[in-house]
Amino acid sequence: MHTAPSYWEQQTWLRPADVAIVGAGLLGLWTAYELKRQRPHWRIVLLERAPYAQGASARNAGFACFGSPSEMLYDSRLNGEDAMLQVVEQRYAGIGKLRRVLGDDAIGFDHSGGYECYPDAPAEWDEKIAGLNKLLQPIMGTPQAFVPAHAQLPAMGMHGFGAMVANRLEAGIDSGAMVAALSKLVQQLGVQVLYGAEVLAKEPAADHWQLRTPNWQLRASQVLLATNAWLHHMAPTLGVVPARGQVLVSKPLPGLALQGTFHFDEGYYYWRHLPGQRLLLGGARNADVAGEQTLEMTTSAPIQQALEAFLIRHFPQYFTPQNIVVQIEYRWAGLMAMHPQKTPVLTQIAPGLWAAMCCNGMGVALAPRFAETVASAILTN
Ligand SMILES: Cc1cc2nc3c(=O)[nH]c(=O)nc-3n(C[C@H](O)[C@H](O)[C@H](O)COP(=O)(O)OP(=O)(O)OC[C@H]3O[C@@H](n4cnc5c(N)ncnc54)[C@H](O)[C@@H]3O)c2cc1C
Repeated sequence: MHTAPSYWEQQTWLRPADVAIVGAGLLGLWTAYELKRQRPHWRIVLLERAPYAQGASARNAGFACFGSPSEMLYDSRLNGEDAMLQVVEQRYAGIGKLRRVLGDDAIGFDHSGGYECYPDAPAEWDEKIAGLNKLLQPIMGTPQAFVPAHAQLPAMGMHGFGAMVANRLEAGIDSGAMVAALSKLVQQLGVQVLYGAEVLAKEPAADHWQLRTPNWQLRASQVLLATNAWLHHMAPTLGVVPARGQVLVSKPLPGLALQGTFHFDEGYYYWRHLPGQRLLLGGARNADVAGEQTLEMTTSAPIQQALEAFLIRHFPQYFTPQNIVVQIEYRWAGLMAMHPQKTPVLTQIAPGLWAAMCCNGMGVALAPRFAETVASAILTN
């Protein structure tokens, strides 16, 4: 049923905006923050289809990470060393900004370090780690960003790994608390956030854009599409492919000893401790790559079974084929956006119409700094 907006509604929440941002996930929120900070008198409106950000930002694993060794080596081969370092620098600075602007308590910053595990030490690993450390020193300010940590494996109670590298600079965060704190901050700054506002269409007019939702329209001088996986159909020319990510969280596991955030298999598996001796595990997308290229935010049997098999193999003291189902308390899916370029994407689709995405599952660290680039493009348009 169509509910026409009242005169009062149109004079209050639906007044024309200088910038309308579609999508109130991390990138939309950080961009609104930057725009409002730099143009306090501009009217910035965020339109979010769900009751709160409901794509990736509060459905992720909460790793404040800037890259594992295997990821950096892969990105170096794909985009070159300079491009890889540029992204690492943005992520490292992004984590610093996240902490500075919101505060460690508000985001549940848990500085327990990050780790990458391997079946065995990869060939020429020591030389490769030494090479990365040298490259990273100017960014991190330490000669040893990565250190060997194989000796800690038994004490952490993890089985089936032969080697591990540690990075003390990484951390875990509370994703829900982080999004809530950032949403509160932008609203305090004067950004209008409209939840339950699904943008169905964007129509160009002479000097503005008209955004259409089921019940009302909003006029905006400029529009930013920050809808991540949904750019797949909102901005098809961008070539964004949706990638579902699935996560599970165990019941409390008495005696759980590991602390930190962990990666394995080039980041296809990731796990961490949560408060209350719980274990979070996500990933396994490589078990069904084609099936996970979807906008359905539901879990699937092949991925959940691959995650369960991982737990049984690497944490047999807690998980067996007989008890695995009762040992898992939460299961969910979120949506990432993948782009072949594997670096953040900003594009002007038409005059006054922008699209941006942080890319490939690393928005916690990338969005705070990348939002500055996005805001600056909009401000200088
Ligand atoms: C399972 C999983 C684990 C992850 N783990 C990590 C991690 O540990 N560390 C890390 O750095 N990154 C991680 N990521 C990636 C990170 O969460 C994302 O890069 C980041 O949250 C992207 O933010 P965003 O604002 O671009 O997108 P989103 O958070 O997806 O926000 C887009 C928003 O647009 C809204 N929307 C869509 N269509 C419309 C419409 N038509 N009208 C209005 N609103 C609309 C959606 O509801 C959504 O809230 C993970 C992602 C997933 C899915």
